[in-house]
Amino acid sequence: QWTDLDDLVGTTLERMEGRLEKVHVALDIPPMLPLFQVDFVLMEHVLMNLIDNAVKYSPVGSTITIRGHAEDGWIVIEITDEGIGIPAEHCARIFDKFFRVYSRDRVVAGTGLGLAICKGIVEGHGGTIEAESDGENGSTFRVRLPVRTPTAADLEGVDAPPEHLPAD
Ligand code: ATP
Ligand code: MG
Repeated sequence: QWTDLDDLVGTTLERMEGRLEKVHVALDIPPMLPLFQVDFVLMEHVLMNLIDNAVKYSPVGSTITIRGHAEDGWIVIEITDEGIGIPAEHCARIFDKFFRVYSRDRVVAGTGLGLAICKGIVEGHGGTIEAESDGENGSTFRVRLPVRTPTAADLEGVDAPPEHLPAD
């Protein structure tokens, strides 16, 4: 359905409330971004996985920043943390099923499925997902989702705007 990034991020953070106590969350999402068409629940799942990782691989008291912007025909969402980072050579492989950078140490528990699921959902929406890190000073995960022009079928059942908008 047609989704507002502010709403998507807000709903996701509300649902994750209990898991966010150890970090600060900073939001940088400008108002009036174009709406984009996604399965809301699946995309919430993607953001939850990314934010969950950001928290899991970051120290207590660090900041996680969630940014959004529009880029001709795309909505871009970036989640940046100040955590342990990802060695550059692993930035692509972490999206593979069961791949975990520190699986042997088991410092942090996990199955290594979260990002593979995120990638599947994002690509299923015609989008892309990538990780960027210098291997020590945190990581940024970037999701790009296409904004599609609504068709008549999309708009069926959408309430018409009021005919007379109050003058401002
Ligand atoms: P789970 O299936 O419970 O999510 P997981 O978190 O280990 O387990 P993924 O979410 O798929 O699995 O992440 C894969 C690996 O990528 C992680 O094990 C970790 O090594 C690395 N990783 C993911 N996100 C981050 C991050 N924000 N900072 C540092 N490393 C990360
Ligand atoms: Mg994970």
